[in-house]
This record gives sequence, C-alpha cells and structure tokens, in this order.
Amino acid sequence: MKKIFNYLNPIERLGNNEYSFIFPLVANVALCILSEVYSYGIVHDPMAVGTYIIFINVAFIIYFSFRDGISGGIISTIITVLYYFYIIYNRPYDKTQIATGIDTALSIGVIYILLAIIIGWLKQTIDKLIGREANEKLWLQLILQQLAVGVIITDNKGRVLQTNNQLENILGIKLPSGYILGKDKHLIRRSSTNIPFFAKQSSIYQALKAHKSIIRKEFAMRRNDGKDIFVQVDSSVIRNKNNRIVAAASIISDITQEKELERQKDDFLSMASHELKTPITSLKMFIDLQTQQLKENDATKAVYYNERIRDQANRLKELTNDLLDVSRIKTNKLGLKTEDFDIAEVIHDIVESIQGTTKAHKIIIKNTKKQIVKADRYRIYQVLVNLLSNAIKYSPRGKKIFVQINKDKNSIVVSVQDFGIGISKSQQERIFDRLYQVSEPRERTYPGLGLGLYISKEIVERHKGNLWVESQKGKGSTFFFSLPL
Ligand code: ADP
Repeated sequence: MKKIFNYLNPIERLGNNEYSFIFPLVANVALCILSEVYSYGIVHDPMAVGTYIIFINVAFIIYFSFRDGISGGIISTIITVLYYFYIIYNRPYDKTQIATGIDTALSIGVIYILLAIIIGWLKQTIDKLIGREANEKLWLQLILQQLAVGVIITDNKGRVLQTNNQLENILGIKLPSGYILGKDKHLIRRSSTNIPFFAKQSSIYQALKAHKSIIRKEFAMRRNDGKDIFVQVDSSVIRNKNNRIVAAASIISDITQEKELERQKDDFLSMASHELKTPITSLKMFIDLQTQQLKENDATKAVYYNERIRDQANRLKELTNDLLDVSRIKTNKLGLKTEDFDIAEVIHDIVESIQGTTKAHKIIIKNTKKQIVKADRYRIYQVLVNLLSNAIKYSPRGKKIFVQINKDKNSIVVSVQDFGIGISKSQQERIFDRLYQVSEPRERTYPGLGLGLYISKEIVERHKGNLWVESQKGKGSTFFFSLPL
C-alpha cells in the first residue's frame, strides 16, 4: 500500500530523477476511455462529455508535469488534445461548430503545453538541486570515512552522531551512533588507571562533555583485545548561527609509534648521561687532587687555571645532572626524600653561595623568619638554585634580585624577582616545557639547555605545589613556587 502511495505521490518522488513516460500515457488514455464509457454506456448521451472533462484534464496535466517532468506534461497534453479532436469529429456537430471546436482545442492545447513546460521545468530543477545537495553530503561522507585520523562527532549531550572507519581501527571497537559517552556501557579501558576510556571520570569524557576545546591531549588505553595504545585527542566545539554549542568534533590519532620512539629516545638520553657522568666525575676528582698539590708548591697561576677547569667540569656535571633528571622524570623515577627543614635557612645558604658568583647583582632576602616545610631538601635547593641562576642570567645589566617567603593558610610561597629582560605573555606558559628556550631575533643568546624550569616545575608539582611566573617584557620577572604545609 505504502509502495503504491509513494509511487503516486509526486512529493515522495522529488529528487529521484525518475521520469516515467508510460504511466502518464496509460493514465491519460484510460481517462479518455472512461469518459467515453461514461457518455455512451452510463448516461447514453454522446454530448455528455462537457466542461467537466477540461477540469479533469488540467488536473492530470499539472499532476503529471509535477510527477514526471516536462515529458510527462507534454504526453498528457498530446493525448488530451487528440481526444478533443476525436470528440469534435465523432459527435453530431455541423461544419461551423467543428471549425470553432478545432480553434478552441488548439488554443487550449497551447495553454496546456505552456503549463506542462513550466511545471515540468520546476520539478526537474528541484530534482537537480536536491541531487546536488545529496552529492555534497555523499562527498563529505567519503572524505570523513577515508581520513587517516579517527573522528567522533557528538551532540551537546555527549551522544555519538558520527564516527569513521579509522576510529574503529584505532579503538578496536565501533562506537554505535546514539552511544552516550561516559554513560553507556564502557567499551574500552584505560590501562594505567584502569578507568574506562569513556567513563564519567575519564578526562576525555569530561572534556568532550564540557565542550571545551581540547588540544593535543594524550591518553593511554588498553583495548578490549589487550593491546596497549596511546591516542591523542583534539576536540573542538561546534556552534550554530546563534553561537550556541550544538556539537563537538574530536579527532583521535594513534600516537603509539611516536610514543615508542619517544621512549627509546628517553632511554638513550638516560644511557648517554650515565656514560658522560662517570668520566667527568673522575676528571673532577683528579683535578681537585692536582690543585691541592700545586697549591702546596705555590704555583698560583696553575692553580688558577686548574680552578677554571674544575668550574667547567662542574658545569658539565650540572648539565648531565639535568639530563639525568629529565630521564628520571620521564621514567617516573624522580623519587623524593622528604624531611622537615627550615626553608629560610636553605634560602640563606643558597643566596650566600650564589652571591659569591656575581658582583653585578645584589640578592636581597625580604623575609628571614624561620619556616619549617616537609619536602626533599636537595630538590628544593635545586629549584631555588635554578630560579636564582636564571634571575642573574636573564638580567644582564645587573640590579637587585629579591627573594621572599610568604605564608598563607595552607602553603608557603617563595618568590624570586628580577628586573631583567622579562618574558612576553605568549611565552610564559611555554618556558616550562622541556627544551624550550625563548628565541627572538633581537634577543641575545644565553647559554642553557632549556631544562631547568621543566625540572623545577616537575619537582614542585611532585611536592603537590605549583610553579608559575608573572612577568612583563623588558621590565623583569617574578617566579613563584608554593609548597603545601
Ligand atoms: P635555560 O635557562 O637553560 O635556557 P630554563 O628552563 O631555566 O632553561 O628556562 C627556559 C627559558 O625561560 C629560558 O631560555 C629563558 O628564555 C626563559 N627564562 C627563564 N627564567 C627567566 C627569567 N628570570 N627572565 C627571563 N626569561 C627567563
């Protein structure tokens, strides 16, 4: 029944590009036969075919033009006009009536043809437009399916609207449309914490659900087939014309191989720094011994050179220590040996020894009150040395450097303020990245590996504290770190 209705309903056929020739022909011929049967067989009056047939014919022509385009309209018109001629010649009309009849039939025929062409053309244009839109959709679908990255499009409730083949390859499962991230049965597990990948607690779900754009977030996952993978998620919110968030589009890339390479690189780094450290330590030891001996013979100059050699060896040692720390961080082996100690005392010691290295700078401690913290003394020492050395290094024209200890309800905050080159807003977040160094064409180059702040931030964060900066380009910087009490 529905099939017949769809076949007859011209609206249902819009966009199909199907134009039947036979159906309008058969229907119009049937209409003529019915009309003849009606006049001869039912009312027994050959003149009974009157104006009503014109209305029915107009309706048929409109219908078939809209259903079957220009050809459907024209075939209906031809049958109709032929039927009019048939009537004119087969009914008892006189000559003048026949002549008027022919004129009328021809004029009506012209109007019918125009009607058929206009409606048929409209129908065919609509078909083309619908077809083009469908083609564009199909085109987009093809692109989406063949992208080399996984794609998930969700609505603003976290419901999956669309995914692509690559996503299935990466996750090893198909997320069915309508699947609600974080709510429906968990399809995949995160390996490290065992939190299900799309469960409510998982950060990917939180981010997708909150519709905040995520940039390059990495997740470790264990697939249902047991394979451990790393994925990177980039997610953007999609807004409608009224700026309301209606969906989120997320790109999931498989970065397992890159991670593996990175691991190999970290292993290499760790090995290389170990290899470097051993000879440097012995070098330093022999130089110390030699200096001692030379001192006894009072060879002042030789002692001076030897001391420089020692400084260089120390610098090499610092560098390798930094490299080692980075590899410890990357392999999760940076352990903390916490104890209670007075941080004010540590600050005094460091300031005293660092002040000895510079005449151009004056380091001033602003609050010297005793302040006990529970932390790794050596690591906090390292953070402070790094911040103070940076303060000196990045204020080449000298000036004061302030070190301050502040205490609030739950933490203590140590700040190191300099009046040096400062850091622009855009660089302030990046300076804590591994190997990141500000490089601007006008800036002179400073020695360093770009590791100090990265290591310091890791150390402070492992103490559940924070390390941050406030700075203005050209005016100076203040680095703060907090330690919970
Ligand atoms: P390094 O000093 O070895 O390059 P860091 O990790 O300590 O590495 O610092 C990273 C970058 O941050 C530096 O290269 C520098 O551009 C910037 N920076 C750090 N401290 C300061 C400071 N006090 N003033 C201005 N820039 C700084």
